[in-house]
Amino acid sequence: MKVLLIGANGQVGKRIVRLLKDSNDHTLRAMVRSEEQAEALKNSGMEAVISNLEGSVEEIAEAIKGSDAVIFTAGSGSKTGPDKTLLVDLDGAVKSMEAAEMAGAKRYVMVSAFQAHNRDSWKDSPIKPYMVVKHYADRILMTTDLNYTIVRPGGLINENGTGRVAAAENLDRGTISREDVARTVVASLTEENTYKRSFDLMSGDSTVEEALKNL
Ligand code: NAP
Repeated sequence: MKVLLIGANGQVGKRIVRLLKDSNDHTLRAMVRSEEQAEALKNSGMEAVISNLEGSVEEIAEAIKGSDAVIFTAGSGSKTGPDKTLLVDLDGAVKSMEAAEMAGAKRYVMVSAFQAHNRDSWKDSPIKPYMVVKHYADRILMTTDLNYTIVRPGGLINENGTGRVAAAENLDRGTISREDVARTVVASLTEENTYKRSFDLMSGDSTVEEALKNL
């Protein structure tokens, strides 16, 4: 598949870049925000495009054009305010869905957040506004014609991945390495059992492939 990765300069994004760079099954176009980031990727042999989720749907569609799939692993992060949470994590995400449809990329893999589908699980959370945004971005994705997969990882950590995960509609809260999130996202691209599905993701006992097949 030709894959357009939104958030390619992020912590999960960089790990997905590494996996796709070595992949025999996929080719990557990395979407980043700055000339400097694009140059760094190009210098290591990657295709890169500059686009911003705060730009227009048409601009994002231009970045996606020619791709079969979009992976969304962007996020405004905890250091910016609620305005950016709305503009990037919600409106930016939804614009990228519209752009994928406009550009004819049918497959869409979203990196969401643990239990984003379940309001009860974050009703007293200090990051409730972020969870609301992830919840509605996911809900809107499910109303599109895109062939989506929504991956809802637990707390992200930077330890080495184990390649062992748990994936299910509902899991107990825990953590997962960004490397294992990246592996799961890449494996989901072609695992048909994840098509039009959403699931919580945590470190666990199964290989990524087994976990996705047994969802
Ligand atoms: P990260 O390192 O903060 O990466 C986010 C990326 O999004 C960055 O590369 C950033 O670009 C990019 N971005 C921000 N605003 C953008 C815009 N307007 N247009 C285009 N790109 C933009 O995040 P991460 O740790 O990899 O997390 C990936 C995803 O997992 C996020 O969606 C996050 O919400 C979600 N998540 C996080 C946790 C957690 O425990 N932290 C748990 C569950 C899910 P720059 O590099 O230019 O800044």
